[in-house]
Amino acid sequence: MTNQVAKITVLSGDYIGPEIMKAGLAVLKAVSQDQFHYQIDEQPFGGAGIDQFGVPLPDETLSSAKQSDAVLLAAIGGPKWDDAPNRPEKGLLQIRQELNLFANIRPTSISAAMQRYSPIKQVEPVNFVIVRELTSGIYFGKPREIDDTHAIDTMRYTVDEIRRVARVAFEMAMKRKRHVTMVDKANVLATSNLWRRVVAEVAADFPEVHYDTSYVDAAAMKIISAPEQFDVILTENMFGDILSDEAAEITGSLGTIPSMSRGSDGPALYEPIHGSAPDIAGKGIANPLSMINSVAMMLTHTFDRSDLADQISQSVDAVIDSGTVTPDLGGNATTNQVTNAIIQQIYERR
Ligand code: ATP
Ligand code: MG
Repeated sequence: MTNQVAKITVLSGDYIGPEIMKAGLAVLKAVSQDQFHYQIDEQPFGGAGIDQFGVPLPDETLSSAKQSDAVLLAAIGGPKWDDAPNRPEKGLLQIRQELNLFANIRPTSISAAMQRYSPIKQVEPVNFVIVRELTSGIYFGKPREIDDTHAIDTMRYTVDEIRRVARVAFEMAMKRKRHVTMVDKANVLATSNLWRRVVAEVAADFPEVHYDTSYVDAAAMKIISAPEQFDVILTENMFGDILSDEAAEITGSLGTIPSMSRGSDGPALYEPIHGSAPDIAGKGIANPLSMINSVAMMLTHTFDRSDLADQISQSVDAVIDSGTVTPDLGGNATTNQVTNAIIQQIYERR
């Protein structure tokens, strides 16, 4: 990647989407300087796609994404399209399918600067990621039926689906604290037993990684009582859906958390975990940290530039520490003030 120009497809989306994307791109520009060369292709997506082309994922947007090294997405959807025949959110399902984004990765960290916002008492810093299988399991399994007297959902996994997401988790652990915890319900579910078998095989390829397992009910407790014990949590789709929201909650703020969705090859997609926040759109007070942290995550995972990502994280922490934060974190700074303070910190750290 070093000598090439990185290609980034930018999907600013709806409501606060463009506001926080602008902040994320300003920080990317500041941190890149002469050190990282990239070009941006901005495309309509979600509600913006519906407004301009009648569909949430227009063809040109998809082909731009497919030719990119990474996709940056802000947030989509909102009341404007409540009655639209095409839902903005459908674009997200489509792009995940098209780019085969089967692994969703969400970091949970409580840095020293963020401690005071956490609803849990934490002595040691918390820093773990959840690797969630995103394209299979009970949300997709057939048969799915309902009538007056019964209903059926099907949790189904294949060996290949498990193996590919397990590899993502172990590879990630190699760059972290080398610990993977697989979360399942193997005392009850057949699918969990298959996960145990397949993940144990993958674990054998990574002897440096400490591998253990936890039942999902116990893991849900530990995320509150001892979150510092985790490094990489690997889990199936529905458990990951629930646990990742629980994990977001212990950081104390929806407005700071990024995420990454990736496949085996091809571009990964980076986005904040929150929605388009129609209630605060246009007021200039959206917290830009989720988007700025998404940019940092992109620099680390797609472009192997954790040096630049670290500059962003350190600047973000310094700005949080100084109290320049948006109203969702109890402050009175605007999106622009927070963003400018971070850019200032980046320059001072040069
Ligand atoms: P979705 O269905 O898209 O997930 P949601 O209904 O869960 O949306 P969000 O858009 O995520 O809602 O917003 C939930 C609450 O958090 C809202 O009150 C919103 O204003 C607030 N919020 C979300 N993101 C931010 C942000 N970046 N900065 C400040 N507040 C935010
Ligand atoms: Mg939501």
